[in-house]
Amino acid sequence: MADESNEKDTSPGFMNPVAGFGVTFKAMFKKRLTEQYPEQQKTTAPRFHGRHQLNRHPDGLEKCVGCELCAWACPADAIYVEGADNTEEERYSPGERYGRVYQINYARCILCGLCIEACPTRALTMTNEFELADSSRANLIYTKEQLLAGLEDTMVDSPHAIYPGMDEQDYYRGLVTEAAPGTERQVAVSKGEKPAEGAGAAEAEEVEA
Ligand code: SF4
Ligand code: SF4
Repeated sequence: MADESNEKDTSPGFMNPVAGFGVTFKAMFKKRLTEQYPEQQKTTAPRFHGRHQLNRHPDGLEKCVGCELCAWACPADAIYVEGADNTEEERYSPGERYGRVYQINYARCILCGLCIEACPTRALTMTNEFELADSSRANLIYTKEQLLAGLEDTMVDSPHAIYPGMDEQDYYRGLVTEAAPGTERQVAVSKGEKPAEGAGAAEAEEVEA
């Protein structure tokens, strides 16, 4: 009985290794795709989904209202939010509520962007920063302090009073473009901060005089 496999193989056997190297030779003359990371950083696409950022209004108050919609939208359960009420003595956002605790767990996050779509105030957006790797799980939980946007020249750090004569709607209408002259950061008593020593005594002296 004839061997069918031998009948179909018409090429000389010694050519097989050379044919195999054909793929290698073709690849040798192609443009190299090796990226010299991290020595050479590649520019990401403008709408790249990187690390999140909690944004501020132009006067430095926070845009987050602690509504938790981002946390509910997250398919990976990576966001934890606790809202709280603002007071006139300690105001973090122009309206009634603010995000007292805000955490994103980057061990869970898949950078899908559903949370930023859900945010009603554009408080939450994503940056182009992608270097999030870490050897500790605890370090991958980013806190509100880490996620909060930095201060620009027109801003005063929260907590501080709302712009005089403006309300929450005016902030979203873009009528507040900078911190009001003389705006000072309030004492964050809820975070354990205490009024500066001597402040109370100085006020008492002024009253007596
Ligand atoms: S980007 Fe996606 S996975 Fe990451 S926190 Fe937002 S919704 Fe969750
Ligand atoms: S980031 Fe946006 S969606 Fe999330 S709690 Fe704050 S305001 Fe709500």
